[in-house]
Amino acid sequence: MQSDIAENITSLRARLDGTGAQLVAVSKYHPVPALRQAYDAGQRIFGENRVQELLSKIPEMPDDVCWHLIGHLQTNKVRAITGKTALIESVDSEKLLNLIDKEAERAGVVTRVLMQIHVAQEESKTGFLPDELLDYFHARRYENLKATHICGVMGMATNTDDTSRIRDDFRKIREAYEAVRAMCPDLSGFDTISMGMSGDWPIAIEEGSTLIRVGSAIFGPREY
Ligand SMILES: *Cc1c(COP(=O)(O)O)cnc(C)c1O
Repeated sequence: MQSDIAENITSLRARLDGTGAQLVAVSKYHPVPALRQAYDAGQRIFGENRVQELLSKIPEMPDDVCWHLIGHLQTNKVRAITGKTALIESVDSEKLLNLIDKEAERAGVVTRVLMQIHVAQEESKTGFLPDELLDYFHARRYENLKATHICGVMGMATNTDDTSRIRDDFRKIREAYEAVRAMCPDLSGFDTISMGMSGDWPIAIEEGSTLIRVGSAIFGPREY
């Protein structure tokens, strides 16, 4: 019998076909057997939001899984996660970015990251304001990074049913991304816009997302 998880992966992939966007299966709070069902359906990118949970799942899953950290990274956990992720999507401050860089250099690895942009109308969401992000790139402070590759941006829309507001938020994220590209044409491999979750990813795709992060629409509701 085919699992719902496999069916969900297959139908999401069919809907993404032709968009060029990739799918992150957000597996936080779900047990390893659920991740395995997704893996067996061909899914290779998994997103977790807590360092401990991510680290505990790595040895339980095949080696070719690409792990994305999508939640806030505390500075005291940076060393533990260094070298373990394909992408840290949730770099929400310059201080964190510099620490990630220091630890990557120390470990002799390159850490790939996205800059998290704050556009939603909620105080709880973290990240760079668009202007802060532009300041960072305008001052070319990324040139000081030694072992970190900034691959693009990540953001979340306001948690609302108002689709025009959601679309507006996604547009702001894409505009910040494009402003950085225009300002720093030399920035290589800055090509990722991670936006869109279970409830809003089709809008995100219309607004230029290249990476969607989908949890409950694959694995069902989370039990916290
Ligand atoms: C949990 C989470 C998601 C996935 O949310 P769903 O609504 O379950 O798809 C996406 N992005 C981030 C940053 C998350 O924390």
